Amino acid sequence: MTELYLRVENLVSGYGDLTVLRDVALSASPGKITVVLGANGAGKTTLLSTITGVVKAQAGTIELLGQDVTRTPTHLRVRQGLALVQEGKRVFRQRTVEENLALGGRHLGRRDRAAAIEVAYRRFPVLKDKSRQKAALLSGGQQQMLAIAQALVPEPEVLMLDEPSAGLAPVIVKELLATVRTLRDEGKAVVLVEQLVGEALSVADQVLVLNRGHVVIDEPASAVTEDDVRAIYLGVG
Ligand code: ATP
Repeated sequence: MTELYLRVENLVSGYGDLTVLRDVALSASPGKITVVLGANGAGKTTLLSTITGVVKAQAGTIELLGQDVTRTPTHLRVRQGLALVQEGKRVFRQRTVEENLALGGRHLGRRDRAAAIEVAYRRFPVLKDKSRQKAALLSGGQQQMLAIAQALVPEPEVLMLDEPSAGLAPVIVKELLATVRTLRDEGKAVVLVEQLVGEALSVADQVLVLNRGHVVIDEPASAVTEDDVRAIYLGVG
């Protein structure tokens, strides 16, 4: 049996009386990228927010590394190995690169935090070169790298990324996806929400497509084409 780092089953979630996700299942395994696709409003961000616990599950279960965390507060899920890089919310622009990284390890002891920051610099050498600069001075792509590096400081087993390519130039998106592949190869379980269907499929191991809060495709990437996904977006799937 494949080991699962994240297992979501029968998830129902939403906002007050509004139910957004209905009976959603998702899993993420070490060394694999699970891509989540779906048209605007399909519920992708709601799914990630419910997995982190910022939005409460109305029903269903969320297991992280074999532990039921469905009712666990967000900060404890983070300590148990979950990280989310939120869409658009990149970094603290008025803080330096190093201060941003330190924030990612604020619950670590001083020594562990320093060691983790060194690991971040090895992963992303450009951040070391700019460690004392304000994050605002980084390019958009570098800010996204910093956001990812910050999320990685506590060495989470599960890394979730919400539309990391948003607003970035195609050449930077390529670099970013290469980074995501490297993290997969390091053994992270990656959950990647994307709008760029072709690019996302090119790195995916497993593909989940949401349509109006329902899972309509959950298949290995080799079984899913861009046309399959587009048909769902256009409402003909
Ligand atoms: P996008 O690609 O546009 O980010 P998405 O697939 O991530 O879309 P969600 O952001 O999860 O979709 O939104 C799903 C539904 O939930 C939408 O109908 C949206 O209006 C609603 N929604 C999202 N956030 C909230 C909120 N904080 N309060 C109420 N409704 C919300």
